[in-house]
Amino acid sequence: MECIFCKIVNEEIPSKAVYKDDFVYAFYDIAPKAPVHILIVPKKHIVSIDEFKEEDNALLLRMFDVARQIAKRKGINETGYRLVLNTGKDAGQTVFHAHMHILGGDTLTDLG
Ligand code: 5GP
Ligand code: ZN
Repeated sequence: MECIFCKIVNEEIPSKAVYKDDFVYAFYDIAPKAPVHILIVPKKHIVSIDEFKEEDNALLLRMFDVARQIAKRKGINETGYRLVLNTGKDAGQTVFHAHMHILGGDTLTDLG
């Protein structure tokens, strides 16, 4: 499987873990764009949020749940944080294994 995030999930490529369970893995982004920049990925390979099926709804909810937990653990739940799901090329998605960015720890610039 030539997917960089599958390799990270399978520990073939090292990463700095933040959270893991049977379905979801979270790790620090290699090129942080904010003081806190963490990625949450489903362990199973799904290309993007656009490819989630109804049977993946519980997984999607879990990703949001994990995001909230991480925000709290990193102390940005009260100052605020942004969850980003770049979907497809026009959105700038560069890794085609769905992932949620958690960004926070400073005032974030406006989108668009
Ligand atoms: P996208 O632009 O697809 O939404 O975001 C992909 C993110 O993955 C980027 O923020 C990039 O820095 C991060 N990334 C790419 N390769 C690696 C890697 O090998 N390790 C880690 N930790 N992050 C990566
Ligand atoms: Zn993958």
